[in-house]
Amino acid sequence: MILLLPVLYFTAGCSNHRNQPAESSTTQLAELYDTLSTPQPGEWLYEQQELGQTLEEFREDTPIDSNNAEATFYILPIDIIHEEEFSLIADVATYLTTIFGYEVTVLPSINAQLFPTHYFRDEQLNSQLLLDEIIRPLLEKDALGIMGLTQRDIYPGDGWNFVFGQANTKEKIGITSFARYGDYDTDSARQLVLNRLIKTTTHEFLHMLGLQHCIQYACVLNGSNSLDESDKKPSIICPECKELISKITLASFLRLRSLSFVA
Ligand SMILES: [Zn+2]
Ligand SMILES: [Zn+2]
Repeated sequence: MILLLPVLYFTAGCSNHRNQPAESSTTQLAELYDTLSTPQPGEWLYEQQELGQTLEEFREDTPIDSNNAEATFYILPIDIIHEEEFSLIADVATYLTTIFGYEVTVLPSINAQLFPTHYFRDEQLNSQLLLDEIIRPLLEKDALGIMGLTQRDIYPGDGWNFVFGQANTKEKIGITSFARYGDYDTDSARQLVLNRLIKTTTHEFLHMLGLQHCIQYACVLNGSNSLDESDKKPSIICPECKELISKITLASFLRLRSLSFVA
């Protein structure tokens, strides 16, 4: 029987048990952010045991180092045909570049007609096969990461109904689908799809940088069990998650300096 599990699936960290929450930010800015309320039945944290991520755990998980701290992030459109879909992806690339400062390059689309039949379950595509056999081989050695983006519905394997996105931190690969985000035939409908797409790609992008789910604040890195729960979370990154990223960026810079001294 196929389970209904419409979640943001995070290969590297969703199921790991953590010892203690991330170190708390003491900035005054933190007071402006909403903390998460007690999880209700059906919500992600009601069903998942997540204890947060320490700085040390983040340092172990992040693929960012002095070699790729300023590298390019790639988006691979998968089975993207229509102009309005390319337009959405271009807006996502602009958003990620603007917010995170990394260069984002959109690659040419790969047509699903080229995929073997076992990639399909009816109209759905197997995201694990896409990650393993299509996306990973295209990862440039020094790239920050590569994320597939598709209008096709995706599922990671038997036992899953579908997922919105999936990421593997250690390997710097990920995929996001906007098949369930609605139509985009009017300006307001397109804006809703774009907002959802930005939220999910940001979420997966941050996983790919080494961050795990946030359990402290209302944050784009909260796990989601449904589209409704995903819609309720903000598209912004909270102070604690932001602090983790800034620390590793600083660490990369220091490592770079250290290497310079050795040389
Ligand atoms: Zn996630
Ligand atoms: Zn957060």
